[in-house]
Amino acid sequence: MGTKDTSTMDNNNSKPNIAFIGLGNMGAPMAENLLKAGYALSVFDLSDAATKRLKQAGASVSESPKDAANNAQVVISMLPAGQHVHSVYLGDSGSDGLLAELPKGTLVIDSSTIAAADARTVAEAASKLGIDFLDAPVSGGTGGAVAGSLTFIVGGDAAAFAKAEPILAVMGKNIFHAGEHGAGQVAKICNNMLLGILMAGTAEAINLGVKNGLDPKVLSDIMLQSSGRNWTLEVYNPYPQVMENVPSSNGYQGGFMSKLMQKDLNLAMQTAQDTEVDTPMGAKATELYASHTVENGDKDFSSIIGRHDVSLLS
Ligand code: NAD
Repeated sequence: MGTKDTSTMDNNNSKPNIAFIGLGNMGAPMAENLLKAGYALSVFDLSDAATKRLKQAGASVSESPKDAANNAQVVISMLPAGQHVHSVYLGDSGSDGLLAELPKGTLVIDSSTIAAADARTVAEAASKLGIDFLDAPVSGGTGGAVAGSLTFIVGGDAAAFAKAEPILAVMGKNIFHAGEHGAGQVAKICNNMLLGILMAGTAEAINLGVKNGLDPKVLSDIMLQSSGRNWTLEVYNPYPQVMENVPSSNGYQGGFMSKLMQKDLNLAMQTAQDTEVDTPMGAKATELYASHTVENGDKDFSSIIGRHDVSLLS
């Protein structure tokens, strides 16, 4: 391949075919929203359980990223970390991954949270092949993915951003162009460093109140209407049964795994170190999540409250 021009997606009003790779807690509901909006989707994931869900929703299931991308004008990926993105797009040798198989003009949107440097590496390789690559990490959690109300934080060329915007608008409510390649990832890790600090701090405050005789819901309601208000209290309370339909009320299953928060905090710390920026609160949150993930890596990141009371995790 490598010579066919797929820019027909703008020549008529028909929707581009999309290949979607990575159908986990975030990718599955994002892909489902694209199907509901009438996009034809071919999907790939290493896990059969993940692809089964999407098959039931109407996607065609492929055996490899290359098969999924056959006939697709757009590729979207939602993978755990940088090494998975590298392996899918660049392959083992750096030049035998999916990028080498895609026709010129394909639009590739990677929504995984990875290091900005890794995103720039893939973008550069894509650019040499005439492929548009955008880093487009998201914020909003699994609830936002299901509701189609994610925030997309995009890095890359303005022209590629314009092509991606109508597709991202199906899965998200706020679509930001943060700047050039890698800028989306930098903004995302700043946000997630703050989120890690807020979740650890909120868990600590609720635990202090409960250990001093307060009801966790009453205390949460008070802080929600006071100056401690923040996103975790609004939509993601870490204390079990304070809020419905959040991981803390479901045994900390689903949601955003602690090991993924740990990965994002490590990315933030690496960036801070590389650029000699002082981030003491981020460093503390990183330390807390590092010890928490030893036993609880697969549990949602709100399970950090279990540091204070392990019985909450059972
Ligand atoms: P997840 O682990 O639930 O899903 C990842 C999926 O990728 C899995 O189904 C896995 O089988 C699949 N996968 C791994 N390697 C693959 C490969 N080589 N080819 C195909 N599929 C492969 O993770 P998630 O919670 O969906 O998170 C995905 C990304 O989104 C991460 O980078 C995470 O940091 C970010 N993120 C997550 C949330 C959240 O709330 N869960 C919120 C914002 C951003």
